Amino acid sequence: MRGRFAPSPTGRLHLGNARSALLGWLHARAQGGEFLLRVEDLDSARCRKEHVEELFADLDYLGLDFDGEVLFQSRRAEAYQAALAVLEGAGRSYPCFCTRSEIARAATAPHGPADDGPRYPGSCASLPKEVVASRERERPPALRFRVEPGVVELEDLFHGRHAQDVHAEVGDFVVRRNDGVASYQLAVVVDDAASGVTHVLRADDLLSSTARQLQLYRALGILPPSFAHVPLLLGQHGGRLAKREGAVALSELRRLGVPSERVIGLLARWSGLGDGRPIRARELIASFSLEAVRREPVMVRESELRELLGS
Ligand code: GLU
Repeated sequence: MRGRFAPSPTGRLHLGNARSALLGWLHARAQGGEFLLRVEDLDSARCRKEHVEELFADLDYLGLDFDGEVLFQSRRAEAYQAALAVLEGAGRSYPCFCTRSEIARAATAPHGPADDGPRYPGSCASLPKEVVASRERERPPALRFRVEPGVVELEDLFHGRHAQDVHAEVGDFVVRRNDGVASYQLAVVVDDAASGVTHVLRADDLLSSTARQLQLYRALGILPPSFAHVPLLLGQHGGRLAKREGAVALSELRRLGVPSERVIGLLARWSGLGDGRPIRARELIASFSLEAVRREPVMVRESELRELLGS
């Protein structure tokens, strides 16, 4: 059993990220498994070196340790290229010249799942070779994955059954952006497979990406891992966490001298794993089971945060 935590260093880790890291770590450690760290720094315009350094310090503060070497996605271009070559060889990808606004105009369905914009209508799916060659001179294309029609089913260890028709809801999706960088969907599949990850535990804002990833696993001839998507932490009114409600950076808690046991105690209580008393992460291993983790979304109260900060 091998799990992983795969943060993107586009900002500072907050309590929601810490909860995903803690639950993934406990899930692996409780089974005597390994736990890997992967830095998802593909987007060089948004990822910052200081966030990577903070990330290491935050995880250390929480008492979470990792096996093996840390993988940086920014150094994995060759592996992504090899996977893209497999897709291309199998006729499962094609160059796409569409701009965002062209897609929005051509789309019939207003929105795909989550923040992915409208369904891709397949405008470039069967461009003649000469057209591709001439358009390539004007603008570098992205590469899209040709998805298979039909419903993709997933038995999520946390959510239970999840089904999505990627073809109908998302359409062919980008596997390489037009700046040559692999997309998140491709990189996550290639890396989890290369690292031998058997269990992916992450926040459920990524549940809507999983069917796409399953299609990629299939096209690449790789067995997928098991998935467990845990609910996000929400603000008092059920929306995104505001800073005063818990979107507090771990680096800020460290700077304020908040003992990490207090943070872990609160994360454990939110997860239904304890009464909130200060505790070390490793003390939670023995009694941990995924079944015991609360399945409802967690609404964070301001008073809990004030208590955490000791104010
Ligand atoms: N890097 C992604 C994020 O921080 C997580 C990727 C994953 O767990 O699959 O949201």
